[in-house]
Amino acid sequence: MGKLLSWVLLIVLGWAIWKLVVITQRKQQARHAARGQPAGADSGANGAAEPRAVGQGELMVRCAHCGIHFPQSEALAGGEHRFCSPAHRAAGPRDHERARSDPAP
Ligand SMILES: [Zn+2]
Repeated sequence: MGKLLSWVLLIVLGWAIWKLVVITQRKQQARHAARGQPAGADSGANGAAEPRAVGQGELMVRCAHCGIHFPQSEALAGGEHRFCSPAHRAAGPRDHERARSDPAP
């Protein structure tokens, strides 16, 4: 009987610790996201390179050359466009990226 009780206690204790870890991680993520927000980022005249806000406060931008989305902190600025890599910045924006204009949400 005492053995069963100790097992129940152990499971409850484990669950409580796991819950504490999850809550702590969530708080850290929220704090990190709040700090990582760029203040007063210039909004370019080009609508195609408009940064979009997603889930955890991380701004995503699109490469003007290949069109992939990536965090703004990793973006390379080239004029009014943003690029994912130095190679794509050197290659410049593609025509279809220039022509296409995403409607802002
Ligand atoms: Zn690219």
